[in-house]
Amino acid sequence: MLGWSTNLFRVAGIQLSLHFSFYLLLGFNAWQGWREAGWPGLWWHSAVLVAFFVCVVLHELGHCFTARRYGVGVSRILLLPIGGVAEFDGIPREPVREVLISLAGPAVNFGLAGLLWLFIWLLPAPSGSLEDAADALPSLAASLQFLLSWNLLMGAFNLIPAFPMDGGRVLRALLAGRMDYVRATFWAATVGKVVAVAGAVAAYFHQPLAMLLFLFVFIVGEMEYRGARRRAEEDEHFRATVERLRAQSIAQGTRPPV
Ligand SMILES: [Zn+2]
Repeated sequence: MLGWSTNLFRVAGIQLSLHFSFYLLLGFNAWQGWREAGWPGLWWHSAVLVAFFVCVVLHELGHCFTARRYGVGVSRILLLPIGGVAEFDGIPREPVREVLISLAGPAVNFGLAGLLWLFIWLLPAPSGSLEDAADALPSLAASLQFLLSWNLLMGAFNLIPAFPMDGGRVLRALLAGRMDYVRATFWAATVGKVVAVAGAVAAYFHQPLAMLLFLFVFIVGEMEYRGARRRAEEDEHFRATVERLRAQSIAQGTRPPV
């Protein structure tokens, strides 16, 4: 299903792709804006959504540029309605590098929040012209404030120590400094699942729909662990096969000529 996407353009050589469901979100959001304030509402809602996703792309580029510094290739950034996914050629198994790559995304969000705060602070008092255009439209300051809040939320949410959030990877990398990678993934996934269960219980009382999000976090934690275990088993199998073939060729090579 992740294949159903269209390529937009490249940013510093990294392909930016939109998942088809993203167009549904764009359409739904534009329709909501149109219902609220006609054409100005449609354009304003769309502009705020696009600005929001520009922040998501910048978050992903934070990961990508840091990864590149360490020689990790990045094939593309896929944008989904729930956020962005940077597709790396491989994650370095070096704790410090993985921590820095993971933290670079949230750091971009906090940096953007700071810039937006400065911009709002410098913004002249509203003249009323924008509000005159359509009363139902939020002001520029209110929209920037919305983006600021979302960047803070995106940065903080991604620091939660659970997969697929960046915090889950940070925790795994920190643990991987003390134990092997599969065990580190197991413990990071377990912490993430505990967080997911606690979140689902809290959501049950306050926002039942958010339980789906925590179910997703729980499942991704399990998938991450299984993936790490499978890759380790494959690596082990590959190593054993190479060893066996080497032993065979040495045995054949040392056999006395007939
Ligand atoms: Zn991230």
